[in-house]
Amino acid sequence: MHAFHYADGRLRCEDVDLSAVAEAHGTPTYVYSAGTILDHYQRLDAALGELDHLICYAAKANSNRAVLRLLAQGGAGFDIVSGGELYRVLAAGGEAARCTFAGVGKSPEEIDYALAEGVFSFNVESEAELEEINRIAAARDVRAPIALRVNPDVEASTHKYISTGTHENKFGIGIDVVMRVYEAASRMPHIRIRGLQMHIGSQITEARPFAEAIGKVAPLVRELKERYGLEFLSIGGGMGIVYKRALDSGTGKWWHDHGGEESAFSVQSYASAILPPLRSLGVRVLLEPGRFLVGNAGVLLTRVRYVKQAAAKKFVIVDAGMNDLIRPALYQSHHEIVPVTEPGERRPENVDVVGPVCESGDFFAQDRELPELREGELVALMSAGAYGFVMASNYNSRPFPAEVLVRGGRFAVVRERQTYADLVRGERDFV
Ligand SMILES: *Cc1c(COP(=O)(O)O)cnc(C)c1O
Repeated sequence: MHAFHYADGRLRCEDVDLSAVAEAHGTPTYVYSAGTILDHYQRLDAALGELDHLICYAAKANSNRAVLRLLAQGGAGFDIVSGGELYRVLAAGGEAARCTFAGVGKSPEEIDYALAEGVFSFNVESEAELEEINRIAAARDVRAPIALRVNPDVEASTHKYISTGTHENKFGIGIDVVMRVYEAASRMPHIRIRGLQMHIGSQITEARPFAEAIGKVAPLVRELKERYGLEFLSIGGGMGIVYKRALDSGTGKWWHDHGGEESAFSVQSYASAILPPLRSLGVRVLLEPGRFLVGNAGVLLTRVRYVKQAAAKKFVIVDAGMNDLIRPALYQSHHEIVPVTEPGERRPENVDVVGPVCESGDFFAQDRELPELREGELVALMSAGAYGFVMASNYNSRPFPAEVLVRGGRFAVVRERQTYADLVRGERDFV
């Protein structure tokens, strides 16, 4: 499901009119639906049914403390990629014992912090990292729980910046050499072999690559279970979501709800592709979804500042910029743009929707057919709940936008908009 729909001529998040959010807290503002996040989590959890599993939400997709708390209370674990994310998870009431620590470049300080807090597993990406973890665990006289991240070399057709599972990218250890690294790990006195991990990419829109990757690592899992008592297989995240929604010519609505299905493929088809090969392995299964849980649960609410007719094009200039939501500039990604006031009979026109940042790459849509937009009106950049705020920057000295969480008919700021004073905090003169 997603919780954004028109009622009484206004776009709502759950039961909250988005114009009320803008009135109370200004724009640009990220708005998240608590109900949608929990619904996605619960549906995925239910689809895995009787399988012994743990869903570790990939905190990097949206690490707002209120979002993390929501999922922690729902029973989720977390997949973290830095000491900062571990700190956030703990601050939100999450448990280190339900955290997996991923990433190719963990620092000694981060490893020591994660050991002190007692994470469930380090997902290790190289032999050098394994040796470093062993050394730091020795200093604490503990055994560090680890999983090796294997690169199964499967092609998941997605954008090249978010494909991670082929031999050409920096992630993981080659499937042909991973057994040798496990042997090395088994001889390290301060390492405890706990699992095997993989993550083949992001925004994957079919179930096949997941099943294929599981099939590829299944023999490895069996052997590792026998040799080292392997406890878990993590199959990573990467489930894609629907970003594009067509104009519904039947109803004339610009925002068409596709029958409540938020994944590019259904949770059921995902589950039925992965469950049979997983069941036969007889180990605990970890999943690390990020985008699937939060992507369609959030929008970036922005106001049209100016409409500018240039020689060849019409530009709609909004008050959000690439510093607030960089996905279109970084990944050529598509976000639907929906007026908060229902467009009704407004005539369509082709426009570029751009931000105020001094870069030609600062656009949200190019040559897109949209209902005629007026200066001063509010629009929602849809599907902005994942890899949105977390990638924001202060470029052009633009303060971070606010973040708002909606629960039913109530809403609250869960991160304040930055002020100008925040922009120079920590800076020093040197004369
Ligand atoms: C980014 C990442 C995820 C989450 O990816 P999504 O596409 O958001 O589901 C999971 N695991 C690892 C190791 C990652 O790097």
